[in-house]
Amino acid sequence: LRGGNLREALLVWYGAHRRDLPWRRTRDPYAVWVSEIMLQQTRVETVVPYFDRFMQRFPSAAALAEASEDEVLESWSGLGYYRRARMLHAGVREVVERYGGEVPRDPDARRALPGIGRYTAGAIGSIAFDREEPIVDGNVARVLSRVHAIEAPLGSPASERALWDHAGHIVRGPRPGDLNQALMELGATICTPSAPRCDICPIAHTCRAQIDRRQHELPIAKPRRAPKHVKMAAVVALRQGRALLVKSSSELFRGLYGPPSAEGHGIEAAERALADHAIRARIDRKVATVEHVLTHRRLEVEVWRATHARGRNDTPASHGISKLARKILAAADH
Ligand code: SF4
Repeated sequence: LRGGNLREALLVWYGAHRRDLPWRRTRDPYAVWVSEIMLQQTRVETVVPYFDRFMQRFPSAAALAEASEDEVLESWSGLGYYRRARMLHAGVREVVERYGGEVPRDPDARRALPGIGRYTAGAIGSIAFDREEPIVDGNVARVLSRVHAIEAPLGSPASERALWDHAGHIVRGPRPGDLNQALMELGATICTPSAPRCDICPIAHTCRAQIDRRQHELPIAKPRRAPKHVKMAAVVALRQGRALLVKSSSELFRGLYGPPSAEGHGIEAAERALADHAIRARIDRKVATVEHVLTHRRLEVEVWRATHARGRNDTPASHGISKLARKILAAADH
C-alpha cells in the first residue's frame, strides 16, 4: 500500500466532510479528555448536549477537581456507565495535584492516570498535542481491518498487534490528530459495519478488502465466548460385529459419516437416532458419554450400543468419518 496516498486522501476527505462537533472546536486537552470518555460506549448525538453542559459547569481540570463526586455524577446522570465519570474525576484530580492542572504531554505520564488507557491517551496526545500517537477504537479497527485485510478475529492478540502497528504507521506525518479523527469519522459515516459505502469512499483505491470484494467479510468477528452446550445421543448399532455408519445431514457434520445420532439424551433420543435413519436394532445399553468441542459448541454425547441391526449402511471413504464419530466408536469398543 502507498501509505502516503492513503494519508493524504483521508486528510483531504476529512477537511471536506468532518462533522462539526463541539469538542472539535477546541484543542484543550482537558476538553478532549472529557469528550473521549463520554464517547466511549455512547453515541455522538447523545453526547453533544451532555458535553456542552459539563464543560459549562466544569470548564477546567481545576473546576472538575474541586467538584464533589455527587456533583460530577449528577452532571453525568443519563449517560450511563458511571464508572467512567468516577475515573475521569479521579484522573483529573491527579492532574491537578501532580501537574498543576496541566494534562501531561508525556504519553507515559498520561497513561499512568486513572481511567486513561492506550486509546484515550492516544486521542489526547494526537488531537490536543499534535503528537504522532496512534488510536484504535471500534471504528478505526473496522477501517484498518478492511484496508489491510487483517484475517485475525477482532479482539485476538494477533489482530490487536496488527491494528496498533498499522495505526502507528499511518499516524506518522503532519496533522496526526486530524488523521486519527479522519479514520474514526470514516468508520462512523462511510465504512460502517454492515453497509460500507465503498462507492464514495476516499480510500477505496488502496483498500484491500474493496479491491478483493471482501468488505462484507471483514473484519472477522470475535468468536463467541461460551460455546453452546449440546446434548446428543449416538447409537453404535452392530451388524455381525460391525457398526452401521450413516451420512450425516446435521448442520454440524454435514456430509461426514458416523453412527446415527440425534439431539437429546436418554433412550428416546437413541431410538430417534435409529428411526431417523430407518435403522432397526435392539438397543442394549448406554456404554459411555464422550465430550467433543467445536468452535461454538460443546457436545456431550451419550454412546448407546445396539445389536441385531438392520438397515442401510453407508460405506464411507476413509477420510469421511468425523473426529467425533471416531471417538464414539472407540468409546463403544470398551
Ligand atoms: S473502500 Fe469500503 S471497505 Fe474499504 S475503507 Fe472504504 S468503505 Fe471501508
